[in-house]
Amino acid sequence: MVEIKKTVPKMGTKSEAGMKKLANRLKELEDQLVVCIRCGMCQSVCPLFEQTRREADVARGKLALLDGLGKNLFTDPDGVDERLNKCLLCGSCAANCPSGVNVVEIFIKARAILAEFKGLSPMKKLIFRKMLANPSTFDNLTEWAGKFQGIFTKDEKNAQGTSCARLVAPLISPLINDRHILPMAAKPLHKTTPMINTAPGRSGLKAAIFTGCIIDKIFPAIGHDLIDIFKYHGVGTYIPQGEGCCGIPALASGDMATFEKLVEYHIKLFDQEQFDYLITACATCTSTIKKLWPSIYEGKSSGIREKIGRLSEKTLDINQFLVNKVSFSNDTQGIKSENFNQNNVRKTRVTYHDPCHLKKSLGVISEPRDVIRASGKELVEMEGSDKCCGMGGSFNLYHYGISSKIGNLKQKNIADTGCDTVATGCPACMVQISDMLAKEHLDIKVRHPIQLYADFLREQKLI
Ligand code: SF4
Ligand code: SF4
Repeated sequence: MVEIKKTVPKMGTKSEAGMKKLANRLKELEDQLVVCIRCGMCQSVCPLFEQTRREADVARGKLALLDGLGKNLFTDPDGVDERLNKCLLCGSCAANCPSGVNVVEIFIKARAILAEFKGLSPMKKLIFRKMLANPSTFDNLTEWAGKFQGIFTKDEKNAQGTSCARLVAPLISPLINDRHILPMAAKPLHKTTPMINTAPGRSGLKAAIFTGCIIDKIFPAIGHDLIDIFKYHGVGTYIPQGEGCCGIPALASGDMATFEKLVEYHIKLFDQEQFDYLITACATCTSTIKKLWPSIYEGKSSGIREKIGRLSEKTLDINQFLVNKVSFSNDTQGIKSENFNQNNVRKTRVTYHDPCHLKKSLGVISEPRDVIRASGKELVEMEGSDKCCGMGGSFNLYHYGISSKIGNLKQKNIADTGCDTVATGCPACMVQISDMLAKEHLDIKVRHPIQLYADFLREQKLI
């Protein structure tokens, strides 16, 4: 049982009510921690442990640390912070856990407790509370940053004279290191398509689209493809004006206030229209809305909880939606075979990387592969297709050395297939894989499965 002393050392001057709240949250966590039987099966699948071989880095080691969180918070809050945040939140451990320990949720809740105890750094407060929590401010600031990005970056060509990742950043910040970063789009999706609301067509379905920050600001082409594909399949489309972030960067840093603000903002936004499904092309957004939104609101006031529950139930990954809800195979079969017979050329070889947030969190495995095949491509499996790419959101920012080592293994597995293109259903993985391939000057394209499908429909002059 956790004991909370009332003499709080330098880290915080919490009120008695604040301390009680903290104690309750520690107790909640304790109840989840007892499920871990310390078997160590999480070790063999943890991409971080594979690199560091440190028990402290694997789920079992972190859960043991959290077992004494009540005490450790007071004796070594910075140490707890460091160990707890050194994690990709990839969920490989949870997917391989015989006891069903919900590791990612436990780590996220522990980070929130820690942030509440220590307080957020001024930089995080600025980024999350002043920028991310206000979608229009965030849009304006990123647009402004996009205009000046050329000053801090330079073009880099690969060995073939074309480029996988297009920019290399010099040392503008110690956090940038030698990353090859993808430029922000000249026009984010919300600028070119501020609002769409169309009626269902031949599919009889209407879907709302949750765009997500990375697609909006770096890969708006994926959003345009998604809209074109919906039009082709007769799916009514709803994109409300003013969409923002799903909240995962704030939540992963323990900033519950920003996370809740964003969740409640989007609940109101999507409440304005009737639709059958909420679709995202970002694995991380899908997993956050489907799993973390409801789990964080468990036990909160019933009105908002029920609305979140209804929206998360309707949320689907785009590949899942196309394959399982739209008459996708009927719509594509005829045109696919005709295409292959006419063109006696080698099909583009595509390999697929399973994003952790699609396979391990949501069990979406076959559908993206179906979409790739329906796009007339030859799918070649890589070794370890479901091994984490090493991105892990802010993990990549703070632990770039380890993140790159993990990403380099992915890059090698991709290259070994002899593919022309690697497809993946998460734009964050696309950013990391582009960086890793660019470091090796490999001319392998990085695409979302639905981009391949949209290209195919365009070749057929269907969109
Ligand atoms: S988290 Fe699961 S796999 Fe890891 S030690 Fe605990 S019970 Fe075993
Ligand atoms: S979430 Fe991923 S990186 Fe973190 S402990 Fe589990 S397997 Fe390791």
